[in-house]
Amino acid sequence: MHELSITESVIAAVSEHVGSTPVRSLTLEIGRLSGVVPDSVRFCFELCAHGTPCEGARLDIVDTPGRARCRDCGDEIELPDEIALCPCGSANLEITGGRQLKIKQLEIGD
Ligand SMILES: [Zn+2]
Repeated sequence: MHELSITESVIAAVSEHVGSTPVRSLTLEIGRLSGVVPDSVRFCFELCAHGTPCEGARLDIVDTPGRARCRDCGDEIELPDEIALCPCGSANLEITGGRQLKIKQLEIGD
């Protein structure tokens, strides 16, 4: 389950940033094509946050849709998953979004 190591690195990065200040909430942006399952991240977050500034923090996850540009017709389309076709029938797509995983917002303090 790679969500565990991803969550661990997110918490490590946050902890390094905040020092000993407790984190109130954390917003993560997870692209739908990133292969990361938001529910698994939630589960891992509770486990991994123990004993870190993230313990007890609220985790918000924003999932962003996949996007691609069709190399044949030039259209920009939204991709539900990586195995998709352009409405024109082409599979010649360039993924332009939805693979990111990043910390979007951090709320700290008591
Ligand atoms: Zn197309």
